[in-house]
Amino acid sequence: MNKKRPETDASNIAEDAVFALREFEKKFSTEEVCMEVLLSRLLKRAKCKACAGNNLRRISRSRDYHCNNCGEKSSLTAGTAFAGVRKAGPHLKLIWLLERGFTFNCLQIHKHLGIAYSTCLAILKKLSKVIQDKMELVAKTVDSSAFLVLFKKRSRLTPANEHPQAEQRIANLKGQEAKKSQLKHEITDLSLPKIESLSELERKLYDLISKEKIHLDHILYGLNLSFNDLASPLFDLENMGLIERLPADYYIAKEQKLLSDAENSGVEPCSKKMKKRIDKCKAFLKEKFDGISRKYLQNYLAIFWCMHDRKTWGCNKLFEACRLSGEISQHQILMYETPLEVSFVSADGK
Ligand SMILES: [Zn+2]
Repeated sequence: MNKKRPETDASNIAEDAVFALREFEKKFSTEEVCMEVLLSRLLKRAKCKACAGNNLRRISRSRDYHCNNCGEKSSLTAGTAFAGVRKAGPHLKLIWLLERGFTFNCLQIHKHLGIAYSTCLAILKKLSKVIQDKMELVAKTVDSSAFLVLFKKRSRLTPANEHPQAEQRIANLKGQEAKKSQLKHEITDLSLPKIESLSELERKLYDLISKEKIHLDHILYGLNLSFNDLASPLFDLENMGLIERLPADYYIAKEQKLLSDAENSGVEPCSKKMKKRIDKCKAFLKEKFDGISRKYLQNYLAIFWCMHDRKTWGCNKLFEACRLSGEISQHQILMYETPLEVSFVSADGK
């Protein structure tokens, strides 16, 4: 076996996690106990939804609390990521492992902990949403195509009869279209009042140039005028920012120039240091999860961060984030699509 990289051997880590979980299971032996633990942890920090007081009492055998201050009765899990959970055990186990920096995949969880693969996946997606909300503050923005090599699983966004990586091409196109249409709106808002104020000759000139990039000789020919007639209106249109003069006496409408510039500009290339950090993350995701779908890339990046950054995601941190995250619906998780530019935090929290 590969003796150089014992720390990245997936099965070793799983065994390690299983050993640690024995400790957990001794304490939380049944689902009933787990649910009690979940509710009492929530109760400890809960505030009354009506009066914001914290003098609450759990109503026995239910998930509800009673406020000793105002008499309000409400659910402890409502408004948290635990809303509607049927089983507390799997949630607590996965959070417990993540907060202790154990790395695992759903297959290992299924094999060693007996939690169904699909349950594990659903919980991880939900937890990743909680983690993503915290990413905005610290993450760097990275072009999602940097992770292209990982896309080996299909999703409902994968085009028919194509490789899962084709999803990236679709995302690029969608992203570019969105950028262009936003830019178009911005330009129209700016240029419309100017166009309305043009003289008749300026308007004719602008209409001609806005059709396509055009040479000065063709403008003169098209309008049947001499350069002396056009020198001043050309200068005015350029001054107003409606057209731009290009090398070799070509003219183009500013709108077209900006749109074609936007089309040709990509995301800034990342630094060598950043590239190294991304490579490390890719190696981890490749080894741990083998292939992922592009649709859920951002979820995996969130889980990667949580599995590695103990300072941010140490004991109690993930549970607390779940408590404060608000409810996360199945629909929200299903409809999620990784954006063109993803939030990325490296293993050392940078
Ligand atoms: Zn109250």
